[in-house]
Amino acid sequence: MGYARRDGQLCAEGVPLARIATAVGTPVYVYSWQNVREQYTRIDRALAGVDHRICYAVKANSNLAILARLNKLGAGFDIVSGGELERVQRAGGDPERVVFSGVGKSTADIDFGIKCGIDAFNVESASELARLEARTRLLGRKARVSIRVNPDVDADTHPYIATGLKESKFGVPPAQALDLYRRAWASPDLTVAGIDCHIGSQIADVEPFERALTALLELADTLGGEGIALDHIDIGGGFGVAYGNEPALALDRLGEALRRTLAERPLQLRVEPGRSLVADAGVLLTRVEYLKPAPAPGHRNIAVVDAAMNDLIRPALYQAWHAVEPVAENGGALRRWDIVGPICETGDFLALDRELALNEGDLLAVRTAGAYGFAQSSNYNTRPRAAEVLVDGDGFALVRRRETISDLLRPETFG
Ligand SMILES: *Cc1c(COP(=O)(O)O)cnc(C)c1O
Repeated sequence: MGYARRDGQLCAEGVPLARIATAVGTPVYVYSWQNVREQYTRIDRALAGVDHRICYAVKANSNLAILARLNKLGAGFDIVSGGELERVQRAGGDPERVVFSGVGKSTADIDFGIKCGIDAFNVESASELARLEARTRLLGRKARVSIRVNPDVDADTHPYIATGLKESKFGVPPAQALDLYRRAWASPDLTVAGIDCHIGSQIADVEPFERALTALLELADTLGGEGIALDHIDIGGGFGVAYGNEPALALDRLGEALRRTLAERPLQLRVEPGRSLVADAGVLLTRVEYLKPAPAPGHRNIAVVDAAMNDLIRPALYQAWHAVEPVAENGGALRRWDIVGPICETGDFLALDRELALNEGDLLAVRTAGAYGFAQSSNYNTRPRAAEVLVDGDGFALVRRRETISDLLRPETFG
């Protein structure tokens, strides 16, 4: 979806990727807007029949152009910092469609959220609830609260992105959540709004979501018995995508299961997808700088490209696998290559042991890089971050110019 070959040339919608590389240089992230829009529509359709809201997890890809377009589609936003709230505001997003997640909300971030009138704070601890209450009192504004419950569900994903186990730093266990709801209910400064969880990322099965929703509903029913009414229930994000041949989460089956589990309860269902909205829409375009074919048996074939772990850290951080494709097929001899970056770390690779025909100067597309790609990039090795381009139909726009060295050095002084 969004990417296809025409006359052997890999294109994003109607635009050959080679044209973007020539215009903007490499490395560059390219996003297909039609792909994002189709994914949004798929999730929306999967949840048809229940009152629902899709709150895009901004941290997956926070480019303003994507936020503004998702906002026009009617998306809400799940944010984890004041910076992300600022982005949503600049993109024209309505604070009343914003939920604020995260274990470590600063006082400044909480104040910003209260003043903007965001829809809900997803509160993750007793201390955070106390701080939120104190700040509302000080600012003379009420805040809407949802408690992030940790349902102790194993999402069967990479340990760094599993967030719903009882050992995790996120949320509070159900018993403690009850206590926090009673406190919030009793407070004149807080309004009990909803209940939420987020059990992890890159989850391929429906079942963990079903179990999490069941656990949340049990708690919601107990609260209802005490006269504490909620208006929404938020099962977080984490919908798995296919990076290779593994199955993506079946959105239709997810929708069915959630509808069935929710039964006829008068609660708005919320989801917080990040990755599943943007991953497949993005590629990282990079150029082969040097080839270092194995000098002797037992050595590896190394292709050094101009993108590195600072541009895409997922392979190094999560042992993630991304498909790598030549932008134009060169018809040369196939070999197994390690695709590595220029950074001084052995962990600096984009892909290992890939069968490709490569020449120096060739363009490569690292696929499924729209989520947690640019968003997790850094300036390590004083490398300016890549440009970002948004394709829509036959046109493309530079939606973030490449950083310059002066951009990087500007905040520094000699002391
Ligand atoms: C990261 C995160 C998400 C999005 O996760 P994806 O795997 O990208 O869908 C949603 N909610 C919360 C609270 C998160 O931290």
